[in-house]
Formats: sequence, structure tokens, C-alpha cells
Amino acid sequence: PRILVGMATCGIAAGAQPVLSAIIEEVEKLGLQDIIIKQTGCIGACQIEPIVDIILPGEKKVTYVRMNPEKAKKVIQEHLANGHIIEDYTVKSSLEKMKKENPDLEMTIFFDEIDYAKRQHRIALKNCGVIDPESIDEYLALDGYKALQKAITEMAPQDVIDVVKASGLRGRGGGGFPTGMKWEFTAKAANDKKYVVCNADEGDPGAFMDRSILEGDPQSVLEAMAIAGYAIGSDKGFIYIRAEYPMAVRRLEKAIAQAKEYGLLGQRIMGTEFNFDIEIRLGAGAFVCGEETALIRSIEGERGMSVQKPPFPANSGLWGKPTLINNVETFANVAQIILKGAEWFKSVGSEKSAGTKVFALGGKITNTGLVEIPMGTTLKEVIYDIGGGIPHNKKFKAVQTGGPSGGCIPYTHIDSPIDYDTLTTIGSMMGSGGMIVMDEDNCMVDVAKFFLEFVSHESCGKCSPCRIGTKRLLEILTKITEGKGTMEDLENLEKLSHDIKATALCGLGQTAPNPVLSTLKYFKHEYEAHVREDR
Ligand code: SF4
Repeated sequence: PRILVGMATCGIAAGAQPVLSAIIEEVEKLGLQDIIIKQTGCIGACQIEPIVDIILPGEKKVTYVRMNPEKAKKVIQEHLANGHIIEDYTVKSSLEKMKKENPDLEMTIFFDEIDYAKRQHRIALKNCGVIDPESIDEYLALDGYKALQKAITEMAPQDVIDVVKASGLRGRGGGGFPTGMKWEFTAKAANDKKYVVCNADEGDPGAFMDRSILEGDPQSVLEAMAIAGYAIGSDKGFIYIRAEYPMAVRRLEKAIAQAKEYGLLGQRIMGTEFNFDIEIRLGAGAFVCGEETALIRSIEGERGMSVQKPPFPANSGLWGKPTLINNVETFANVAQIILKGAEWFKSVGSEKSAGTKVFALGGKITNTGLVEIPMGTTLKEVIYDIGGGIPHNKKFKAVQTGGPSGGCIPYTHIDSPIDYDTLTTIGSMMGSGGMIVMDEDNCMVDVAKFFLEFVSHESCGKCSPCRIGTKRLLEILTKITEGKGTMEDLENLEKLSHDIKATALCGLGQTAPNPVLSTLKYFKHEYEAHVREDR
């Protein structure tokens, strides 16, 4: 029998540590033998943490939700010791509450049979909440490092790049640039030294998919970085991760040490001539350091400020050497692409956006947490079928995707498929995957102001359109929300937003006005109401 306890940051915040202690205590007290108790990462369902899985030999996994130490002890006494499932502690209890608003809801006690789980397709999150992230053996047992083995023993570096290119994988950190092309550019840049960098500086408010991957399945990222190193001709990788993610940092450190111990990182990997080592670099939490040129400066020990591109990092990155930068979620797809092939990956998702995307659902939505869906799934399916809709029968007003660089999408576009191009067409962007839902009570001017405050504070200050322009935008928005705005202010807001977009030096400034522009486009009446009401 196995007991799995979700011990990512979200689980621990919800009280998983005393639950785990209670389980260990009860198992010992009852003298139960051959019980394996494991910590896992996050399964994604943050709203029902702490989560405990009980797996008895030959039986379907039972997931207990919203656990506390008393309930956990009862589960050990009744289910583990006597085989009696406590249905009231399973997802059934949550479903019963939701059934009042949705009478068609199917009842089940099994987590993997609820819509939230059934409609997902887990590639990047495949092992999260399943394996013990601190055990390389568990990763190896689920085909871990087989992709690296295949790459370095059966494939030429260009073959690896060709597979990644053919898969259609695009950067999951925001830009959506074709990953294989990035790899090829870096591979073709002639130099005696090259670097692979994993961007784990996840800074969007409301986004936590990279943290979850690193806390739940760190080896998958290390394996992918090594594959990238082989493909581009690099022997050195860096993971740039924010210091606010202490558990992810600790698990990464442990994962690197284990991989080295097993000969999967370091010199002469798997007995070949390939060498690859990875170091961790901590960021101090500046949002701009998620921008690749600022990230590079930060790793070099300089102040994290963006610089003009070109040259692109593929030609001149860390210490002037060709550098490949991909984000955590992008890397988390790589090993499976190498193992299962480009056609398999392309068979998931839509034509121009292959594979899946992980979203962090937050705001006014029933099922907050992480979901991984095939590209092309509609916003409506994510918000209503997977997310469980808006609590308290409130009306949906908008969904913000793409974090501070994204935009607010109104109900008229709720049937839009989620892919890079559609989201851009309707005034938002994929971004790193934050998805914040707003209901009828949210003021869209306040929402725009919130994001503007964030980017204005996070501006690195190098170029005046962003440093000064976002401050002026914020002043106008503040004036409007305080009831002192005029129609002229609305015009200036729009004009200044376009000017900043056109002239800012880096992506932070170029996208900073997006929440203002999208709310002006779809919710102008709310701005006008503020202006009119208070005059
Ligand atoms: Fe810095 Fe903003 Fe200019 Fe980017 S756009 S360089 S963050 S001031």
C-alpha cells in the first residue's frame, strides 16, 4: 500500500505537514506493515488541498481532499487498516455542493473521474503529484533519462534539433517563439563555449506553473537541459530561479546532486563523451529579470536591466557567448518529445500551437489551481467545465490572460480557442499562463490600475517611455478611479499607451499598456461611467 501526500508549497500552506505527521504517527500506532508513505508535488487542485492519495494493491487510487490531522487518522484507521473508503472525505463532498448549482453534474468518489481531471492532458505536469520529487529512482522508473540516453547514444545533435523543430513546440514563457528554431540558431553560432539557461524567474502575478513543475518534477527540467546542451554543443547550464521559491530551489539542488551521483550530469554522461553540468543562480525577485537580456545581466552579477536586441542571446548571451534560454514549462515538454516523437506531440493541440499549455486558474473561479489543457481548448471549457464556473452564481465578466503583459477578454470571446495567435488577435496573449477570472463585481478600471501599478513598480528604469510613461498612465488611471478624470484623460490614456508600446526598449514596457488597452477596447463604458458619474 502507498500513501501519497501533496507536499508542494500550496499543500504545505494548506496544512499538509501536520497531515503527514498524523499519518506517520497513526500508521506506527496501528503497527501497519509494508506501508510506503511518500511526499509528492502538486496535482494542481489547490482549492482542495491538503490532498492524500491511498493506493491499495490492485485497487483504484482514492484521493482524499481537504484533509486535516483528525481526518487523516480516520482514513488510516478505516481505509488503510480496514479497506473501508470514507466517501465524505473524497471529491464527492465538493461535487455535492456544486451539484446545487449544476444538477447535471455526475457524482464520483474518484478524483480522476471529475471533469477537472478528465479534461486535462498532462505532458509538462505528467509526474507532478505522482512521483516523489526528491527521489531520482521514481523519476527513472517512469522513463526518466531515457530521452537523454536516446539523444546522446542514438541521435546526432542536428537530429535532436530537427525533432524539436518538427514538434512545433513554442516557448511557454510568454513569447511563443519556436523552440527548435532557437536551438538551431544557438547551435549554428560558432563558439568554443555556449550556455543553456533555464528561465525560472516566474514573475507574473497569479502564475505558479513553473514553481509547481520544479517542486513536483525537477529531474524533467534537468534532463531537458542536458538534451539541449547536447543539441547545441554546450557543457554548462544555469537555472535562474527566484529566491522566493525556496522549496523549488531545495528540490533542484537535491535533484542536481542525485543526477550527478547517478552519472546523469557531469563528465562523460552515460559513458559517452558528452559532459554537462548545471548550476543554480538565485534572482532577487525583479520582474524584469524574466526578460532574457536582463536575466543574462543578473546571472553575470550585474544589475538586472534589459539591453537592446540584436544581438540576440543565441549569438551573444552570457559573457558574450551563444546562449539558449528556455523557460521551465518549455523544457518540461522536451524529454517526452524526444521519446515519443514530433508527430505524437503535434497530434495534441492545434495546427499552429502544438501540445498543451499549463494555466494557473485564479480569481473568481470555483476550481483554483493548475490545469494543463491541449491548445485549442476554448476559454469557456477551461472556465466552466474544468474551472467549475463562477462561484455564487455570479456572472462572468472577463478573464485576464498573460499576466501584466496580457489583456482582459470579455464574454463575447469566451468561445475562442486558446492558442498563441487567437489570444493575440483578441487583444491578450498567452504569456506564461496566468488566467485570472473576474465576475460582475470587478471594476475593470481597477483591474487595469492594479496591473499598471505592478509594471510601473517593476520597470527597470532604463528607457524613458517605460520608466516615465507607465507612471503617467498610472497617474491618469488613479485620477479616473478617484472620480477626477475627464474624457480628455481617456484619450490621453489611449494615446500614451500606444506610444509606450511603440517606443519602449524591451518586452516589459512594450506590453505594459496591454491591460489598459484591452479594458479600454472592451469595457470603455466603465471608464466613461467613472468620468461621468463623478463630474
Ligand atoms: Fe527597462 Fe521598461 Fe525600458 Fe524594459 S521597457 S528596458 S523594463 S525601462
